[in-house]
Amino acid sequence: MATIAFIGLGNMGGPMAANLVKAGRTVRGVDLNPDHLARAAEAGVHPAASLAEAVTGADAVVTMLPAGPQVRAVYAGVAGVFAHARAGTLLIDCSTVDVGTTRDVAAAAADKGLAMVDAPVSGGVGGAQAGTLTFMVGGEQEAFGRAEPILEALGKRIVHTGASGAGQAAKVCNNMMLGIQMMSVAEAFALADRLGLDRQTLFDVASAASGQCWSLTTYCPVPGPVPTSPANRGYAPGFTAAMMLKDLKLAQAAAEETGVETAAGALAAGAFGRMCDRGMAELDFSAIFEMISRKH
Ligand code: NAD
Repeated sequence: MATIAFIGLGNMGGPMAANLVKAGRTVRGVDLNPDHLARAAEAGVHPAASLAEAVTGADAVVTMLPAGPQVRAVYAGVAGVFAHARAGTLLIDCSTVDVGTTRDVAAAAADKGLAMVDAPVSGGVGGAQAGTLTFMVGGEQEAFGRAEPILEALGKRIVHTGASGAGQAAKVCNNMMLGIQMMSVAEAFALADRLGLDRQTLFDVASAASGQCWSLTTYCPVPGPVPTSPANRGYAPGFTAAMMLKDLKLAQAAAEETGVETAAGALAAGAFGRMCDRGMAELDFSAIFEMISRKH
């Protein structure tokens, strides 16, 4: 059975590695945080003493790291993946990072005879635990074909979005829509409150009308209408405001690089930035309703 090195066992990577174990894979885990490594070990991951120990002889490497700098360091650093992976090893980066980092690292991998895909995810911690993530995968067809059976143990939708970087492009575009939509839904409920319109009534009307969107019907930012939404549990994440801000900044940087005017994306990035500055960074991103609804 194929051996997989899994690097980055945090909120997302921990449960993903556990699902690979459940699917019968041998998983060697690496994380800078000993608590995360210990939690993964409880789920059957073999804790590796070093990145070298995890990667040497592995058939595939999966990474789930915070951002671009960690991805560059883990793959291309002096004692990184490239220094230890044997030719032909498949590399799957599931982190959300900028397209430029992804393409640079994938090109460096190709120079070393290593196939690499970017495979960022949508679905959050709940999706990681349940094995129901959506993967947006960028890379060569052949590498995608090799990654698919591994990702199938972790998600319910695996979409080949194009060449290297296309996974990150899909992710950043999707999350820009999400940030803008959440802000619009939160503004609408704040306005409804001031106009004396009942929240449930607005929900009933808009969820069956042209205001309908995921941020309203699945993840409603006010308590009540959608019992499973974070608003009903004090905005415990879920998907933090800090993560949303990171993705909106990636979208803004990509828009600037390519010369696209994303005015609504810029407004959303500003609003989630203010939310983080006001001590709400670790709340679920739907708590933007709380910030917007405060009296000015
Ligand atoms: P996290 O901070 O919980 O986990 C990251 C892990 O990487 C940590 O355990 C950290 O110790 C480890 N790490 C950092 N640098 C390392 C290194 N050099 N070597 C080994 N381990 C290292 O973050 P997360 O919530 O799991 O998110 C991971 C990625 O997934 C991010 O890119 C994020 O944008 C993306 N994402 C997160 C969510 C979510 O809901 N949390 C949803 C979709 C995508």
